[in-house]
Amino acid sequence: MKKFSMLILILLVISSLAFSKSSNGLKVFISVDMEGITGVVNWEEVSRDGKDYDCFRRIMTKETNAAIEGALAAGATDILVRDSHGSARNILPDLLNKNAKLLRDWSGGFMSMMEGIDKSFDAVIFIGYHAKAGTPNALLEHTMTGNVLDISINGVSLPVKPV
Ligand SMILES: [Zn+2]
Repeated sequence: MKKFSMLILILLVISSLAFSKSSNGLKVFISVDMEGITGVVNWEEVSRDGKDYDCFRRIMTKETNAAIEGALAAGATDILVRDSHGSARNILPDLLNKNAKLLRDWSGGFMSMMEGIDKSFDAVIFIGYHAKAGTPNALLEHTMTGNVLDISINGVSLPVKPV
């Protein structure tokens, strides 16, 4: 339920940003991780060698499609999906909504999970993201590859907790 609430909150924030941009259609960037996908509770489920991996990559693709459909309903005319987990080859291309373009694999560029984004985009949606390293009671919590314990800007640990 926490994951679903977080997803809805993110979509609402993004939607409000998107609606304030323009009326000519929206260009939307969707970055998709896997540890926060519905039902995921174990690393095996997000690992290519895990026996339940195929089930959860299908759910990952369906949740991405839900975001695509939401973006289209909000007026999106150009959607780029960035597969951002592990090998970056998790989303099932044949099941992905054909109204979106899919960016797979890694180039080694510094944009990492946001590779492909530029200033031309009006909105960003994050799907399947997880809690940062050290978050109490969180499932599969980590930051980046697991070697980073915290990311902060001007001494403020991210993400900032709501007041
Ligand atoms: Zn991941």
